[in-house]
Amino acid sequence: MALTRRGCLGLGVALPWLNACRFDGHEVTGGFTAPDPARGHRWRDASPVAATRERRTGVLVLGGGVAGLAAARALRLDGVEEFALLELEDSAGGNARAGSLGGLACPQGAHYLPLPSDDAPELQDWLEETGLRQREAGRWRYDERHLCHSPQDRLFLHGHWQDGLLPLEGVGAATLEQYRRLSRLIAQARREERFVMPGVRVPLTPGTRALWAIPFAQWLDGHGLDDAYLRWYLDYACRDDYGAGLTRVSAWAGIHYFASRHGFPAPGEAADEEPLLTWPEGNAWLVRRLAQPLGDRLRTGQGVQRLRVERQGVVADVLDLADGTVTRWRAQAAVVALPVHVARRVVDPVPAILSARAAGLGQAPWVVVNLLLDGPLKDRGGAHPSWDNVLYGSPALGYVDASHQSLAPVVGPRVLTWYQALGDEPQGRSLLLQQPWTFWRDRVVQDLMAPHPDLVERLQQVAVTRHGHAMAVPAPGSAYDGPWHDGRLAFAHSDWAGYSVFEEAFTRGHLAGRHAAAVLRSGA
Ligand SMILES: Cc1cc2nc3c(=O)[nH]c(=O)nc-3n(C[C@H](O)[C@H](O)[C@H](O)COP(=O)(O)OP(=O)(O)OC[C@H]3O[C@@H](n4cnc5c(N)ncnc54)[C@H](O)[C@@H]3O)c2cc1C
Repeated sequence: MALTRRGCLGLGVALPWLNACRFDGHEVTGGFTAPDPARGHRWRDASPVAATRERRTGVLVLGGGVAGLAAARALRLDGVEEFALLELEDSAGGNARAGSLGGLACPQGAHYLPLPSDDAPELQDWLEETGLRQREAGRWRYDERHLCHSPQDRLFLHGHWQDGLLPLEGVGAATLEQYRRLSRLIAQARREERFVMPGVRVPLTPGTRALWAIPFAQWLDGHGLDDAYLRWYLDYACRDDYGAGLTRVSAWAGIHYFASRHGFPAPGEAADEEPLLTWPEGNAWLVRRLAQPLGDRLRTGQGVQRLRVERQGVVADVLDLADGTVTRWRAQAAVVALPVHVARRVVDPVPAILSARAAGLGQAPWVVVNLLLDGPLKDRGGAHPSWDNVLYGSPALGYVDASHQSLAPVVGPRVLTWYQALGDEPQGRSLLLQQPWTFWRDRVVQDLMAPHPDLVERLQQVAVTRHGHAMAVPAPGSAYDGPWHDGRLAFAHSDWAGYSVFEEAFTRGHLAGRHAAAVLRSGA
């Protein structure tokens, strides 16, 4: 179907990001959501302004993503109630924020949490606290309402949908043989090294260092794993978790994706269940439960510009994005839950451990596009609509259906959330900064036209979320297992793991909060 477009006009004040466009004969509204890259750069570029007021607290938590929120919870668990959490945006959550379209909740970033293993005891405890995890008759059970409903995922391959994401339909014996070979190699890697999430307590070994040193593609070449279907699937998995494909991420990362979870079960092999928790609004469901108890200790619209450590404590200059004034905060300790590239600009002077962590660390931008449809899409034959719907051969990651978790049958409007990691696209960040929202709308439509030819007809609204520095890419040369605290400062962002998942952000935040509480107690 040809895409036609006429001029776009700005709409109202209530939803300032909304614009209306004629699109294939009907009106489609759309625009960008927060975070606004201009705000992200404002705290950085604003010329120094003298602080007009001073405040004191026990601990400063800088950055209100999952790591900062987990740090705040850990402070409270340790009996520290006097702290402030300062967040740049107008809401907490970082990459795990959500929005809504047509009154329907939808993720703007992170959308699921695999059930944490015993390597993530702090996270298990918190899930118990939220009621998601309960002990029944001596066994742990998760609240079924929040476990991903079946069917979980499907792949659009050779013109129709198959169950599951590993290409199976129409693949030959040689492909299946390579699946089995990779399965054995992953099982062997699991026997030889510990691949766990979070990895904060697992030092690098000579074996894992060697895997961190080479690209995943090179490791696969070395094992003769060159099948096109297998390579596509592995590239998809890397882009999905790490924001960049198998030529850019390390062999450690490629193996870790499978070895830290369920292995790589080849067709016909017994596969462990892969349960995961998800919500229509994605991980913002979890964020809300971390943020709610903080009350007015969570201060949004606050861009941290400078953090210094002095003899008596820490001092932070913080720009209020609403009125342009600067507040000087004084505290005994700080948790720096900021992305590493931000922390390097803020902490003055830059501690050696921060420089060490930043070395070799690159990032992948992401774009997330939420699509409001006036009803269900027509489907090609094959597997039923699933929570996660992926297209073979696409440079994007497909879409999740926010209404999939609904307990009532969804007959009317619905929201689909489409993802693309741009870590392999050389101009990815410039595209995010320079292209209008309609560019991303057209990209989505082109991507999804083959499985859903009626998409344009059904499309009502488009909300584009740009994550310019979304996540660390675990590329060769970016491994780090050094210290994450230095005197009064404790660092806690998923960047410190070298890759970005909830388990890493939460656990590192928790440990940093405990460290800050100990500094406070010591009266240093
Ligand atoms: C599109 C996308 C999808 C994802 N999907 C998943 C998923 O499904 N499951 C999963 O486990 N993980 C997912 N992730 C990974 C996700 O990043 C982590 O799960 C986690 O949310 C990271 O939390 P964080 O606290 O480490 O970092 P961030 O989310 O980056 O939080 C950092 C915070 O610091 C704030 N900040 C920055 N500068 C300043 C400043 N100067 N002053 C004050 N505050 C500042 C930011 O606004 C932000 O709130 C996804 C990531 C992206 C981008």
